[in-house]
Amino acid sequence: MDDWKPRTRAAHGGTRRSQYGEVSEAIFLTQGFVYDSAEQAEARFLESGPDEFIYARYGNPTVRMFEERLAGIEGTEDGFAAASGMAAVNAVLMAATRPGDRIVAARALFGSCLYILEWLRGFGVEVVLVDGTSAEDWRAALTEGTSLVFLETIANPTLEVIDIALVAELAHAVGALLVVDNTFATPVGASAAAAGADVVIYSSTKHIDGGGRGLGGVVLGSEDFIRGTYEPYAKHTGAALSPFNAWMHLKGLETLDLRVRAMAESASRIADALAGHGAFARMIYPGRADHPQHAAVARQMDHGGTMLALDLAGGKAAAFRFLDALHIPVISNNLGDAKSIVTHPATTTHQRLPDEQKQLLGITPGLVRLSVGLEDSDDLIADIEAALAVI
Ligand SMILES: *Cc1c(COP(=O)(O)O)cnc(C)c1O
Repeated sequence: MDDWKPRTRAAHGGTRRSQYGEVSEAIFLTQGFVYDSAEQAEARFLESGPDEFIYARYGNPTVRMFEERLAGIEGTEDGFAAASGMAAVNAVLMAATRPGDRIVAARALFGSCLYILEWLRGFGVEVVLVDGTSAEDWRAALTEGTSLVFLETIANPTLEVIDIALVAELAHAVGALLVVDNTFATPVGASAAAAGADVVIYSSTKHIDGGGRGLGGVVLGSEDFIRGTYEPYAKHTGAALSPFNAWMHLKGLETLDLRVRAMAESASRIADALAGHGAFARMIYPGRADHPQHAAVARQMDHGGTMLALDLAGGKAAAFRFLDALHIPVISNNLGDAKSIVTHPATTTHQRLPDEQKQLLGITPGLVRLSVGLEDSDDLIADIEAALAVI
């Protein structure tokens, strides 16, 4: 089992069977667990073994299967699930930070992550934001006394890619913990842990669910971090993943590799078909050789991802006409779904960001984010080309 490859772990990792020997993993929809005796209850509160549970906020067999399966795929010792990706980010930052600490983070972050960092500033935490694609910026910011480094491997929505190995080396040289949100890259052919991250976070709401059904999140890391630092905070603050969502995401892991590879291949075909189209000011796809961080992509991922950013030269009016003319991708703000999704970040997910921030992050009025789904790529290319012809 120790030498199983990720795809084998995705089908079998973490499986716990009840006395009925079910093939498909059971949903243990229970909050509590019965003890055989008062003595057993006392012993379990003192110390619980791997198959001994106390309360669903602390752990649940279905949730545990999901945590162990994903930790096995990523290649970390342990994992702990959360009710959503943001619950996971929040709990990691809160559990690992004390007043007076110094956090260095890449500035191109999911809006809610920036909100939490801002909140920590209010508790006397120093937060320094850098251009995540600049080695000089990281070198200058990662000084002695930095306790935690936080970044998203592929930034939303402009798809900048951060070199995890480079940041890991600089972070570890000053004794800082490197926390990586690897949601956009997915664990398929892109282990952030293998590249040097100490703690890896996934919003399982995205590709791991893959069908746009339910929220979930996971924190992966060493046993020491998960049990020593993370679990005490997480289990007392209550953002536990529901066993039903854990089961959906557990089953999602079985097909994750196939789905992500198919979506990435389709995204790559779309990017090649659209490259050089006159409607774009920029077309960004991490898998293409013309992506500014292509070398980092090639080093840490074996696919180019499932997302494209299309910056329409005609600005907001062109972007809206493009979205409205599409027949296959739906207009929404999720990603990683079987259905292709288009988003206009400047007026939705990033609407509240001040204009100068938008400019700094490259969120132009013409920018459209495309999450490529599982549809036939020929159909998607035809639909996109027809919509571009309308504008
Ligand atoms: C969606 C997302 C999150 C938040 O996850 P939720 O499950 O929506 O809470 C965090 N980070 C990234 C990169 C995301 O895409």
